[in-house]
Amino acid sequence: MSQAFPNPLQSLPTHQGVIVVDGGLGTLLQDHLDSSSPLAKAMWNASLIVTHPSIIQDAHLQYLEAGAQIITTATYQLSETSIARAVELATAEATPLPADPPITPVGLMTVAIKAAIDAREMYYARHPEAGTRVIAISMGSTGAQLGGGREYSGDYPGWSEERVASSWKSRLAQVREAAAILGLSDFCLAIETVPSLSETRAIAQALTEPAHVHSGIWSILSLVGSKLGESSTGEPLPDLFSLLHPIPHLAAMGINCSPISIALHPLLSSPSFPYSPALFCCPNGMVWDVQGCRWLEEPEEGNPQAGSDGAYTGPERWAAHLVRQVRSGSGPSPPLLLLGGCCMTTPAHITALSRALSPISHIV
Ligand SMILES: [Zn+2]
Repeated sequence: MSQAFPNPLQSLPTHQGVIVVDGGLGTLLQDHLDSSSPLAKAMWNASLIVTHPSIIQDAHLQYLEAGAQIITTATYQLSETSIARAVELATAEATPLPADPPITPVGLMTVAIKAAIDAREMYYARHPEAGTRVIAISMGSTGAQLGGGREYSGDYPGWSEERVASSWKSRLAQVREAAAILGLSDFCLAIETVPSLSETRAIAQALTEPAHVHSGIWSILSLVGSKLGESSTGEPLPDLFSLLHPIPHLAAMGINCSPISIALHPLLSSPSFPYSPALFCCPNGMVWDVQGCRWLEEPEEGNPQAGSDGAYTGPERWAAHLVRQVRSGSGPSPPLLLLGGCCMTTPAHITALSRALSPISHIV
């Protein structure tokens, strides 16, 4: 690949400036997990790469059928760090890990990406008229590899920024190797749930390393927010976005794994989102109630109907809320928007989102 490698997002038609991304893979796959196994404890749904790749393939196909134009691979929790944790747990519990496929970052990544490629081929065969769909190779932040919700706290004991950057450089090299093994060229990276300024700086360093820049691979980079306009660790989002702005081959940046109000804030507060050609927005399907330890429907400001009517809940309400908020922006032309879901979203949410966009949009 050379620096002339095209931005895969440019091959996608839009729903009047909106590209539909898939929803939560973990939410869809969690019922298939053997949560007592060392692999699942360390890698959550990435453990299914080893045990049930066909279930992952089916999940991708469900999202494609729901209208997703971008599908993200089941590699969010996969890295040398999470594999080392799995091996450590397996040793401590005297539970041998399977011998096949090879439990290495490249070995497992290859299987996971292949599941997405095969799902896409099946979808193309069923819908020859549908047009291009893009595979995004998911890479969770360092906290997602360490476990314990550290992708939200940004608390990485024993990990200096230098070590985080070095880990990202290795992981990027592994993705390049896996993509080369599979001969995949029309894909991008989805670096997700990045909590802090420090990790953003480390990722920017890894993405601007000559070996990676030369690969020509395009990236989407997504932060996680906890309050309006702030990262999960309380730093102003514009400070983090600014660090990413100069990175070559940056296709989009934005927010995932947050309530709709937080994930859309960069758009609503600055309709001419100045930092990248596209804004990525994949909010959760519900909001986590810390006191009650449960997921709740997200209230929608200015729409008293939302949430008060039991018949109007779930995927349709989520999609309507999201689309209404997107449309409420008034100002200069919005950027290209990548809209999808994160935790507690399923193919039903993406179907509802695709339908909610259709009446006001057309494929151009
Ligand atoms: Zn999430």
